[in-house]
Amino acid sequence: MRTGSIRVAEISVSAIKHNVARVRELTGGAVIVVVKADGYGHGAAIAAQAALAGGATMIATADLEEALCLREQGIAGPILCWLHGARVDFTEAVRADIEIGVSYLQQLEAVAVAAEATGKVATVQFKLDTGLSRNGAAPSEWSALFARAAELVRDGRIHVRGIFSHLANAGDENDRAQAARFDEGVEMLRGVGIDPEMIHLAASAATLTSPHLHYNTVRVGIVAYGLSPFADKTSAHFGLIPAMALRSEIVALRGVPAGAGVSYGFNHVCETATTLALVPIGYADGMPRALNGAGAWVSIAGEPRPIVGRIGMDQFIVDVGPLAGRLQLGDPVVLFGDPAKGYPPVEIWAGLMRTINYEIIVGIGPRVQRRPVDGSAV
Ligand SMILES: *Cc1c(COP(=O)(O)O)cnc(C)c1O
Repeated sequence: MRTGSIRVAEISVSAIKHNVARVRELTGGAVIVVVKADGYGHGAAIAAQAALAGGATMIATADLEEALCLREQGIAGPILCWLHGARVDFTEAVRADIEIGVSYLQQLEAVAVAAEATGKVATVQFKLDTGLSRNGAAPSEWSALFARAAELVRDGRIHVRGIFSHLANAGDENDRAQAARFDEGVEMLRGVGIDPEMIHLAASAATLTSPHLHYNTVRVGIVAYGLSPFADKTSAHFGLIPAMALRSEIVALRGVPAGAGVSYGFNHVCETATTLALVPIGYADGMPRALNGAGAWVSIAGEPRPIVGRIGMDQFIVDVGPLAGRLQLGDPVVLFGDPAKGYPPVEIWAGLMRTINYEIIVGIGPRVQRRPVDGSAV
């Protein structure tokens, strides 16, 4: 019999619904919710379902495998993907009604081949590079790409549902320059007789701060999970609710004398007699080993308590100090979650690691069980 996980990422479905509704309220247009990389570590199917329930128009992944996995898990709503291998075969995509982000002519031809093979009309959205210098068609390619698209539309092979681009978040002036280039692309597409239903440029950052970049659709990841894309602004500042609480439990409690060394290398030595709690999450689960000695804390019995000693692959130690008498084995430990509930925000780890909240949540490992819960149950 399975005994239940000792490592759980509780995912508040109601928080994701709230965050998507918040974006809809802010923009008034359609919302695409990005669930790439296993829903930013939250579980792609859990995130997709919650996002659609919260009013998302469409779900997006980076690649086609992620999109097909969602279909296999029963996600029936519209799904878009845009980052493809050089030899990608879009047959399964067209068969499964996955919308295809197209970045260059060869990809468009591959879509046409898949449409022919399946006897279905393939739905595409053009991805333009307007200055990020990453994925997307360069301005010099637009005219040939759109001309060919117009032929394929006439032949009944493709339907062009949208056009989009991605911002570099390099300041307001650069955003405006990218938007101007994007507008040219949209006009050029209209010039060949294709009027796309969805026009989208803003991801989370521009969704929160730049109403002039909303067009009729936005495409958000991090804010749907309730986190801020800005290191100097909290979730609460934007009315967002963090959806993930990383939880475990106390599996050992041990009183130690002053001078006791803790974990590998004894780089923490207890100054006074105290009580240590063992928590079975480690760097294999995405808890950065370099948090060692950095001042990170967890929430136990509603109190902040310090992580001490080196973090192992599977476990770490907390000095529970004066709480000891109130604790027993099995008591919950929250590593990060919604600060409104007294939990450490994930941004503490991100700050200590000199990275962004995105990298921490997406790095939570496969051994951690994703457990959907209603927000109120967390
Ligand atoms: C990941 C990604 C997004 C979402 O970005 P957030 O900052 O998480 O909102 C949007 N668009 C594209 C093209 C992406 O790759």
